[in-house]
Amino acid sequence: MSGASFVVETPDPVYLRSEVAWEDRIAEARRELADCRICPRDCGSDRTADEIGVCRIGRWAKVASAFPHHGEEDCLRGTRGSGTIFFSGCNLRCVFCQNADISQQACGTPRRPRELAALMLELQEVGCHNVNLVTPEHVVPQIVEALAVAVEGGLRLPIVYNTSAYDGLASLRMMEGIVDIYMPDFKFWSADRARLLARAADYPEVARTAIAEMHRQVGVLKTDRRGLARRGVLVRHLVMPGGAADTAAIMGWLARELSPDTYVNLMAQYRPAHRVPGNPRYG
Ligand code: SF4
Repeated sequence: MSGASFVVETPDPVYLRSEVAWEDRIAEARRELADCRICPRDCGSDRTADEIGVCRIGRWAKVASAFPHHGEEDCLRGTRGSGTIFFSGCNLRCVFCQNADISQQACGTPRRPRELAALMLELQEVGCHNVNLVTPEHVVPQIVEALAVAVEGGLRLPIVYNTSAYDGLASLRMMEGIVDIYMPDFKFWSADRARLLARAADYPEVARTAIAEMHRQVGVLKTDRRGLARRGVLVRHLVMPGGAADTAAIMGWLARELSPDTYVNLMAQYRPAHRVPGNPRYG
């Protein structure tokens, strides 16, 4: 893990300081759902009618689990855990996915905005340091609807947007002034590798655009005096077998195009899962 942290005094999350026009955001979110181009898959599904696209999620977000997570980065888990909400469904098709039951089979419970807001408030109630939205790319409108209710109900925790980086630019702009901490993966640099391993040849280009937008919104990672993340971008990169050239290219791009002070979690825990075992194409 590397990267500089800068200490800031920001007691309130950005959504309390930025005077978010929640009604306008919700109206925009619902419009987007009617002809869904929320993410780069551009399915055009009418999710208001519960039509599903590549992500396999219709009108309501589905939640696989929600709990204080003590396995996240130190600056997120602190002493009381990061309040993770794992969303079901996914817009990628990673052959090595370790949670294919959640991402590909979309196992989970549909949660309407009030129910999702209640989960956020429960995580706050048990002392979590943040609300950590895991795999939110395809449920941004539903998250906006829920956050409006949660903030009205007293939510005061910073929001962590924990994403594959296969995000639509319009979605990220919908989250501007709401999200304090963006935590994107940067998975692949090579389009061929992204096509083979995630069925998304445009992933590298999309990720570069998305991460640059995240950096524009919140800048390099800053912590409070306890070392807890308060605002900024935290990039994760899982080193892939035979992927050292991708790793080098990604690190170079982050240093050059974002900042040499970009916080990076370089992860080495790849293990073959899902469709990889027994398939020499993915070995
Ligand atoms: S969010 Fe889902 S339905 Fe909408 S464009 Fe992406 S994959 Fe398709």
